[in-house]
Amino acid sequence: MKCSRCKKDAIYFQRQSGQHYCGEHFNSYFIKKFMRGIREDQLIKKGEKVAVAVSGGKDSLTLAYLLKKLQARYPFEMEAIIVDEGISGYRRHTLDAAKSQLEKLEIDYHIESFEDNFGKTLDSFVENNKENACSTCGVLRRYILNKKARELSCTKLATGHNLDDEDQSVIMNLMRGDVIRFSRGQNYYKKISDKFVERIKPLRYFLEKEIVIFALNNKLSFDSSECPYAVYAMRGEVGKFLDRMEEVRPTTKYSLLSGYDKILPALNQCFIPESIGVCEICGEPTMDGTCMRCKILEK
Ligand SMILES: [Zn+2]
Ligand SMILES: [Zn+2]
Repeated sequence: MKCSRCKKDAIYFQRQSGQHYCGEHFNSYFIKKFMRGIREDQLIKKGEKVAVAVSGGKDSLTLAYLLKKLQARYPFEMEAIIVDEGISGYRRHTLDAAKSQLEKLEIDYHIESFEDNFGKTLDSFVENNKENACSTCGVLRRYILNKKARELSCTKLATGHNLDDEDQSVIMNLMRGDVIRFSRGQNYYKKISDKFVERIKPLRYFLEKEIVIFALNNKLSFDSSECPYAVYAMRGEVGKFLDRMEEVRPTTKYSLLSGYDKILPALNQCFIPESIGVCEICGEPTMDGTCMRCKILEK
């Protein structure tokens, strides 16, 4: 099959638009969409300092690569934070991929480990409780990312969440009946406490599949091994369900997220308090007496 815009062989057929793309035209489509998203949503302003969370997978390395391109267009500062959760047999590879790609991109990075921050690896935290690995890891990782971004005086914390991740979270929060989490959305943290660095997700309207193609197309040295705890997570099942729906009705994934974004302001008003208290142990913001991080560390 040929590219819809030139005579070259296509590397990708985009079902939702009916377009065939060669490598070059896919790249320009992707970069244009990224730059437009940054501009329209005013995600990064001139002169800001951005922390980018890098895991070593395709999403975060694609994000770092694109932010570097954006830096060439207008001035802002950027540093990367790599979190080492301490997952044996897995983290080493992704860590090496992250470091080598960031060095190629000439982006400074900081490595923060669970071991140094909490005195324990994720493996030992969840030794007897593997089913909870993802939620424990999420709480502790978000804590480190926010704290480090704040220490670095960053005004934004950028993460590589893609459209599939975002859709999965919407459905999972609803299935759990977790109304607060369902109603939060992106700017919740900034709104609720100055201690949270504002989070941005510039890839949240990009299909996971297209990010893989972009990363391969641009020869990013990402690691594609799967976290050993992924089998315990609900996310995988929800992901498969969404893939099936997208297969039958292309654009389902986009519609779900854009519909959610439309009702978000109303959800915010109904379910999210104007401000919250602080944790009695660590002083970080929390909804009830002790924050999730301290509850995990207490066990
Ligand atoms: Zn082409
Ligand atoms: Zn606390």
